[in-house]
Amino acid sequence: MACWIQEMTDQTLRAMTDDGAFRVIAARTTQTVRKVWNAQRPHPDNLRHVADMTTAAVLYRETMAPNLRVQCGLKGSGNTGTILSDSHPDGWVRALVQSSAEARRVDVSAGSMMQMMRCLPNGELHRGVVAIPEPATVSEGLMACMQQSEQVVSVARVGVAHQGTEVTAAGGFLVQLLPEAKEAESALWVLTQRLEDFPKISELLEEHDASPATLVNEIFFGMKYTVLDSSAVRFGCECSRIRVMASLGTLGKDDIESLVAAGEPLDMSCDYCGKQYLIEIEELRGLLSSS
Ligand SMILES: [Zn+2]
Repeated sequence: MACWIQEMTDQTLRAMTDDGAFRVIAARTTQTVRKVWNAQRPHPDNLRHVADMTTAAVLYRETMAPNLRVQCGLKGSGNTGTILSDSHPDGWVRALVQSSAEARRVDVSAGSMMQMMRCLPNGELHRGVVAIPEPATVSEGLMACMQQSEQVVSVARVGVAHQGTEVTAAGGFLVQLLPEAKEAESALWVLTQRLEDFPKISELLEEHDASPATLVNEIFFGMKYTVLDSSAVRFGCECSRIRVMASLGTLGKDDIESLVAAGEPLDMSCDYCGKQYLIEIEELRGLLSSS
């Protein structure tokens, strides 16, 4: 009889301790990170930060009301570039490396900044920006954002296991101390001690195929907890022909005229997902008449 292990799909899991002290969100993002990476293939040194920013966007959104979209940004030190990630209520997430031509590698170290932004259904933006504390990692940035702009005490770890640029496991977790926690300080002390004894997140992820259920079980070991819900995570993008045309519409008349004069259809591709859009000369002319 044929026997195989079906690869686990990417998902999040949310659970709460029965005493109401903690909530945890754990995520497996292995396949999503692979697709994010393969859509762009930036300099290999960016892999860890791209993976971590992808997982951070997923975790951050899961802390919000279910209909909110979030965007995260990491600004590397010394103008080396930025890494953006965004996560949508439908479950898709994407990321983008914009490194400077000289550096090619976005340097995450002292002086790097992290931004978390959520888009409210009425179009309003809520934005928090922090300097990433030492040791400068996406996990530290995520925790600082949660603490400073959301005022929630949180412990977060995101990570990736990989061989070269082949991602073998990616994911992470975010534990929040709930405002209604009794004896919050001692509860937090117990949890912090436990997480200090944890293996490195990348090792933990690799060992358990980044299973969110295993992560939750390890974090809440010996505590009574209830799984609240789970949701699917996948790589996705919202680019479309209409958006490409809208971005071309922001060009000056002279620029569009020179594109028309070049006499070739314009070959555009989405920076996030690599999808190609061929814009015909007639469409470019249309922009001129509509502007
Ligand atoms: Zn796209």
